[in-house]
Amino acid sequence: QRVGYAVVGLGHLALENILPAITACKKSKLVALVSGSPEKMRKVAAQYGVTPQNCYSYQTYDQLKNNKEVEVIYIVLPNGLHKEYVIRGAKAGKHILCEKPMAISSAECKEMIAACNQAGVKLMVAYRIQYQPHHRKLREMVQQKTFGEPKLIEASNCQSSTNPEHWRHKKALAGGGALPDIGLYCLNTVRFVLNAEPTEVFAYGYSTPGNPLFREVEELVSWQMKFANGLIANCTTNYNVHESRRYRVLCEKGWLSVDKAFAYKGQKLMSAKADGKLELQQDIGLTEKDQFATEMDYFSHCVIYNKKPFTPGEEGLQDHLIMEAIYKSAEEGRPVKLTSLLPAGYKG
Ligand code: NAD
Repeated sequence: QRVGYAVVGLGHLALENILPAITACKKSKLVALVSGSPEKMRKVAAQYGVTPQNCYSYQTYDQLKNNKEVEVIYIVLPNGLHKEYVIRGAKAGKHILCEKPMAISSAECKEMIAACNQAGVKLMVAYRIQYQPHHRKLREMVQQKTFGEPKLIEASNCQSSTNPEHWRHKKALAGGGALPDIGLYCLNTVRFVLNAEPTEVFAYGYSTPGNPLFREVEELVSWQMKFANGLIANCTTNYNVHESRRYRVLCEKGWLSVDKAFAYKGQKLMSAKADGKLELQQDIGLTEKDQFATEMDYFSHCVIYNKKPFTPGEEGLQDHLIMEAIYKSAEEGRPVKLTSLLPAGYKG
């Protein structure tokens, strides 16, 4: 049994990763496309065997309601458009897989969750890291206290961005700069591996004056998240440096780290164990899986067996609440307590 997907938005992620991955899926299949560019859509449809009657524009999007082949709508649009297309998709009676960041504010996330609940459809945020074997293994080892208590996490996701006209540099479509786009990986992955929520954040932000890339959105955010057990996560994100995509969890008797942690492939899970004066490093060799196929097949599994996803809309809302506190802290120059986070137990 394969669940039928409509992919909305034919940009880089959809064309280069999601559509090729669908062909490798075991429980998911591509049945429809939604795009503002008929010419591009014709070519893509021919390549993937999507019939002309299953090609929709943003204007005819709501007619997906009448297409029984489509069970899931996968939203791969700029962040500022997620809310509208998630809500319209839910009203069409379809389950929704929504790219990260979920939206551009926590208020939008709440509306999206309410709309999906009201329509009785599932909502999952596409946090591919949480379905990837290296991160899951690291999380398991942290939870089992393989190297004792985790005490400190260093996480960094940085890359260089060059086109000031791209939607990622427009506040209304992106919601922010480096933080919601790539810093989010540090934030979400730390919460995932610890299986805990921060109680407080303290942040510093910076944008080079006069740089057109950062007229509307920020260049750098460096922030700390404090957890109830005293653990501190030190996180950095930057849109204007050569890349860094890694994190390390430092425990009493060793550490665990993932190289290329947030990249599409090439992950390596390393551990180091303190043994007297020696340090024993090990590559915990795990087989890679296509992250996008894994995530889509997981959501299809939830649809087939009527389960709540592990990263439901509430997971996206939680991140937006924390990002809002991070911006507040950077603006006010003081730590901000996280008092309005959802209690644990919302994950499927
Ligand atoms: P992109 O710019 O390459 O593609 C965006 C698509 O949206 C384009 O086809 C564009 O034509 C279309 N679009 C429709 N209305 C638009 C409008 N008003 N303005 C601009 N574009 C419009 O972007 P992308 O990199 O494919 O990102 C799409 C989404 O996927 C974003 O939410 C992004 O954060 C997310 N993303 C996730 C990952 C991941 O690893 N999970 C990686 C990259 C991007």
